[in-house]
Amino acid sequence: MLKKADIDTIDEIIRTYQQFIVTTHVNPDGDAIGSEIAFAHFLKQRKKSVKILNSSPAPDVFQFLDPNGEIEIYDASRHIEYVSNADAVFILDISDWGRLRELGEFIRGSHLTKVCIDHHPKNEPFVEHDAIYPKASSTGELIFELLHGLDAKLTTRISEALYTAILTDTGVFRYSNTTPRVHQIAAELLGRGINPQQIHKDIYENQSHARVKLMASALASLKFHYENQLATMIITQKMLAEAGASLKDTDGLSDFPRTIEGVEIALLFIELDNDRVKISFRSNGNLVINKLAQSYNGGGHAFASGATLTGTLDGVMQKVLTDAAALFRSR
Ligand code: 5GP
Ligand code: MN
Repeated sequence: MLKKADIDTIDEIIRTYQQFIVTTHVNPDGDAIGSEIAFAHFLKQRKKSVKILNSSPAPDVFQFLDPNGEIEIYDASRHIEYVSNADAVFILDISDWGRLRELGEFIRGSHLTKVCIDHHPKNEPFVEHDAIYPKASSTGELIFELLHGLDAKLTTRISEALYTAILTDTGVFRYSNTTPRVHQIAAELLGRGINPQQIHKDIYENQSHARVKLMASALASLKFHYENQLATMIITQKMLAEAGASLKDTDGLSDFPRTIEGVEIALLFIELDNDRVKISFRSNGNLVINKLAQSYNGGGHAFASGATLTGTLDGVMQKVLTDAAALFRSR
């Protein structure tokens, strides 16, 4: 999957430089966190200095991948010296400046050598060294191929990080991105001493009470439109506060309405503040929804994408529901 030229370029960059930054998108998911941990540990194997700097915290369920707190939240005042002295940055699981926030602004205008490893479809170039493969199940799959190509030692920590990345981005080996290669890689990782039952437990059977309370109120908001083909759920600031939950507890909640019979598209609207609404778009595979997400400056995969819109929750919902009508008319 990964072209030899990309592997060679990355190898050369790692050999040439000493100090690295690894980063990913806001609200990182299992693929983002797993890919970062695996890649950062590989850089450490190569005796490099590396910091993982993110814009927002990882969901608690991925804590097991980072027992030593190697993932840090970027803070310009605290990290300025490290990032100014760094040579190169690896941007994983994202190829969109908007979702890199303040660190993205810094990177964009910086001297750093920039490498992107991602599986989100992208039309225009992002940085000078793009390794973007939309056919890959996950960034974790790409990191596996890269590490394999570079003769890395697949330690247990690296293996469980990559397994987590692939597990979460394939919806536990259920989505259409679950290829034979995905299972081959999983088999390889299972041979490295990882415990798949424990990993599944840590991620999916360890939900906080706050998250379950939030899920209950989100489900209570479920509504159907366009002859039940479109399902919507909302999460308001009030719902978050009442559940004692935060944004990182919302990861994965958008998947549920898609599993209801007859539903083609599920939309989850999250009120970020009085003026911004984050939408998760999910499709059952018959209707492509990333075009709609892109029309709001968002993006993602054909059947799972997202965007953040300006406006009130009611205003944004009304607009998006109106726009979504076209998807059903064109069938
Ligand atoms: P989620 O709804 O889980 O946040 O995101 C689903 C997919 O859409 C992920 O692949 C994610 O990277 C992508 N995505 C979510 N929000 C945005 C956004 O604001 N911009 C872009 N370009 N992609 C997004
Ligand atoms: Mn991913």
